[in-house]
Amino acid sequence: MDSPITDIKGIGEKTAMLFHRVGVYTVGELLSYYPRAYDVYEEPVTFANLKAEQVQAVTGFLRKAPSVSKTKRYAVTTVVLEEFGEYLHLTWFNMPFLKNALSPGSTYIFRGRVQRKKGRLVMEQPEYFTPEAYEEKLHTMQPVYGLTAGLSNKTVSKAVKKALEGMHLNPEYLPEEIRMEQELAEYNFALRTIHFPVKWEDLLLARKRLVFDEFFLFLLALRQMKEAAEVLKNECPMKPVLETDMLIRSLPYALTGAQKKVWAEIQGDLAKDRVMSRLIQGDVGSGKTVVALLALVCAAGNGYQGAMMAPTEVLARQHAQSIEQMLSQAGIFVRTVVLTGSMTAKEKRSAYEAIESGQAGIVVGTHALIQEKVHFRRLGLVVTDEQHRFGVRQRETLAEKGTFPHVLVMSATPIPRTLAIILYGDLDISVLDELPANRLPIKNCVVDESYRATAYRFMEKEIAAGRQVYVICAMVEENPELELENVVDYTEKLKGAMKPSITIEYLHGKMKAQEKNEIMERFAAGEIQVLVSTTVVEVGVNVPNATVMMVENAERFGLAQLHQLRGRVGRGKHQSYCIFVSGNDNPDTKKRLEILNKSNDGFYIASEDLKLRGPGDLFGIRQSGLLEFKIGDVFTDAAVLKAASEEAAKLLKQDASLLKEEHRELKKRLLAYRMAGAKAVSL
Ligand code: ADP
Ligand code: MG
Repeated sequence: MDSPITDIKGIGEKTAMLFHRVGVYTVGELLSYYPRAYDVYEEPVTFANLKAEQVQAVTGFLRKAPSVSKTKRYAVTTVVLEEFGEYLHLTWFNMPFLKNALSPGSTYIFRGRVQRKKGRLVMEQPEYFTPEAYEEKLHTMQPVYGLTAGLSNKTVSKAVKKALEGMHLNPEYLPEEIRMEQELAEYNFALRTIHFPVKWEDLLLARKRLVFDEFFLFLLALRQMKEAAEVLKNECPMKPVLETDMLIRSLPYALTGAQKKVWAEIQGDLAKDRVMSRLIQGDVGSGKTVVALLALVCAAGNGYQGAMMAPTEVLARQHAQSIEQMLSQAGIFVRTVVLTGSMTAKEKRSAYEAIESGQAGIVVGTHALIQEKVHFRRLGLVVTDEQHRFGVRQRETLAEKGTFPHVLVMSATPIPRTLAIILYGDLDISVLDELPANRLPIKNCVVDESYRATAYRFMEKEIAAGRQVYVICAMVEENPELELENVVDYTEKLKGAMKPSITIEYLHGKMKAQEKNEIMERFAAGEIQVLVSTTVVEVGVNVPNATVMMVENAERFGLAQLHQLRGRVGRGKHQSYCIFVSGNDNPDTKKRLEILNKSNDGFYIASEDLKLRGPGDLFGIRQSGLLEFKIGDVFTDAAVLKAASEEAAKLLKQDASLLKEEHRELKKRLLAYRMAGAKAVSL
């Protein structure tokens, strides 16, 4: 399992590099690179029965050869099929060779996602088969893997097949009792079936087993961590300091009741005889940053250093800026240092020096912070923002840097308290359950594409009033190349559609960190009026002057993600608006988006979304991505999570150190898991 993927027949260095891009280095990692969906090859349907936004197959007789037209960016190959007076347009990008591959006078099966565009039925990039070839695929389930440019689904699927063939059976490590009690499938069966299921029922069984395993190992590790932390004495006791009161008094607003309560809890913890491990849970916009800053100021006032980690560079810089601003406003002198990956070597060196010498009282950064070169002089507090983006392991690593500093974790993911207690079993939980009083609830609407022009006029009006706008474009997961085009092309179009005096820029994940920072800084400074972006702005970004968010192809996002995105507006005193543009008229899509339309409450949204999901939705859009579980989802698999938690507690009660013979395999497995960190569960 630990051997490199190049040990698999057919995977050379080149292919291996592609796998590395998706985080797969070893055979074990390949086997736990689970499909993100399955394709079921169904019977072809008649044109009259085609439904938008669904992958379907049709039988088509080709009257003439495909036509090829060239645009600036692509060669587009087109075929128009006809059936009883209904037409279906097939288009392919950059596949001009199809012109010769598809011969006129023959019948093919075309299969792909159907869309209604300008009143036409369109199938983009369909697969094509001869009727005989399709017959063979009929009713089988094919795994669909997450891909990257150059890595095809076929390559992954073949590699997995080879790896499974060459695999020795893994010893079953879950105790028999647990498997019986929880009705869990055997491990090797689960691993094979998750990749190549034959029946839907088998797939559900396999998935349940792997989800259980993932949660179970995580929870066992968590309990061990908790036990270790419980005996940790507070080596950094912190007394209340004057500066925190100065800060509170200098703020342009009064703290909410919830902020005061949580700050009091933290201050209590910092002075106790045990080290603090606390989670602040608060919906987007509830004001977590200032609470964290109070704790950091308290640490600095007691002569310690405090570190704050953010999941993205943009966010880290923004935190640093707002921290510096709040400090200077309050007349507090604590040197704040930023540390991010894209800084020049010289800048980094000077940051390291300030950290090592102890001059830096507050250090804000991305996980570059936890790299080896950073030595704190007296690290007393570690804050991680938007913690669900970090693996547990990273948290541990940073904690190891100090003499067991206090740990404060902040999260906006709305999860029920019962689940939070399980998932953050090693942390005490504070809840910011109150939004600042000056907030007006965001006004929402769900519209179709025909509304776009009206939306642009509305955005112009807001801009004329001095406000700013986000436009979010969906990522095109199947084709990373297209994703990039998406944002850039869209920006061009938007520039054409809006007044020329309006500054419009774009932001996407493939841009260099420095470019991203620059764009974000200009947006925050009000120099850019419209920011067209992928979901890179999803987390934590705070530009209170932005009042409109328009989300294109809203149907492609999970509701929790849309809620996070929407949290980028409604952060100031102005009325804010969110426009969800749905790219199709599927009633299920409407129903889902309607939930967001009705409510601005993250917790309500998550639970309603869950109700609309059937077992078929278990695969597909990941609800939360919480703690980077590979297969388990804390929302949809809440029942399994609870079961795993109970079993973990029961097991450790009987055999706390897993010394019994029957737990030997499990112990080995757990050790490997802890070593690899929660992020890369090595199988
Ligand atoms: P989040 O909890 O999403 O991280 P932030 O800490 O970024 O939220 O705060 C969002 C915005 O609300 C910021 O502009 C901040 O200055 C402001 N804010 C924080 N607390 C209050 C408050 N008590 N009253 C008014 N505005 C506040
Ligand atoms: Mg935040």
